Amino acid sequence: MDSFDRRVTEAAELIRDSQYLCAFTGAGISTESGIPDFRSPGGIWNRYRIVTYQEFLSSREARMEYWRMKYELFRDLKDARPNKAHLALAELERMGLLKSLITQNIDGLHQEAGNSPEIVIELHGTNRKAICISCERTWPIEEIHSILEDTGFDPKCEHCGGLIKPATVSFGQPMPQEEMGRAIEAAHRSDVLLMIGSSLQVEPAASIPRLAYHSGARLIFINRTETPYDHMAKILFRESASEVMERIVEILKSE
Ligand code: NAD
Repeated sequence: MDSFDRRVTEAAELIRDSQYLCAFTGAGISTESGIPDFRSPGGIWNRYRIVTYQEFLSSREARMEYWRMKYELFRDLKDARPNKAHLALAELERMGLLKSLITQNIDGLHQEAGNSPEIVIELHGTNRKAICISCERTWPIEEIHSILEDTGFDPKCEHCGGLIKPATVSFGQPMPQEEMGRAIEAAHRSDVLLMIGSSLQVEPAASIPRLAYHSGARLIFINRTETPYDHMAKILFRESASEVMERIVEILKSE
C-alpha cells in the first residue's frame, strides 16, 4: 500500500468509527468548482479594496462601493456548482456519519450539494441573501440587486428603516453569535474533525479545529499548503480535496 492509500484507509476507518464527525471547510474546498480561494495571487478577491463594517455603517459612498463589489462577485460565482468534495460530504451525512458541517464559505455549495441546512453552520454568512442589520429580516440577494439596478440607491428596510447589507460577515463586523456558539458546541462534541481547504489564518474561525483538538478530537487535514496547526493533525493530506474525499467515500461504501 502506498502512502496515499494507507492514509485514505486510515482516514476512512477514523470516520467510520466516529461518534460525532464534524467537518470544517474553507475556500479550498470550492477551488475545484472554479471559485478561487482567498490567497491565490491575482484572484478575483484582489480586484477590490476591503470595505470595513464601520465604513459600511458610516458612509453611503462606501456602501455603494461594497454593493458594487458584492454584485460583481456574485455574478462571477453564481454558476459554480458543487464538486466531488462537496458531494462526498453530502454522502457522509446521508450515511449517518457527518453530524455537523462548519464552513467559512459564503458560496452556499454545501447546501446545493445536498447537506441539510440544519447541520450546516455558515460562520461568515452567505452571499445568497441580504439582511437588515437592525431587524435581521432577510431577502434573496437578487431582489436587492434589482432594486439597486433600478434606483441606483442602496435600499433601506421597508419594515424598520434599517440599513440592508449582503448577509456576509465583513471585516470589523462582529461574528454571528448563534453560529459561533453552535460551532463551538460542535467542536467540543466532536471526536473526529475533518478540515478541508483552509489556511487557518482567519480568526476566530480557525480556533474551531484547535478547540476540537484540545477537547480530544482526532483531526484529519486536507489542505494543499501548510497551516499553523498541521502538528495537531493525526492524518495529513496535501492532495486535492475532491480526490481525497471521493476515495474516502468509496472505501466507506465498499465495506
Ligand atoms: P484561504 O484562501 O485562506 O485558504 C485556502 C486553502 O485551501 C489554502 O491553504 C490552499 O492551499 C487550500 N486549497 C486550495 N485548493 C485546494 C484543493 N483543491 N484541495 C485542497 N486544498 C486546497 O481560505 P480560508 O481559510 O477559507 O479563508 C478565506 C476567507 O475568505 C474565509 O473567511 C472565507 O469566508 C472567504 N472566502 C470564501 C470563498 C467561498 O465562499 N468559496 C472563497 C474565497 C474566500
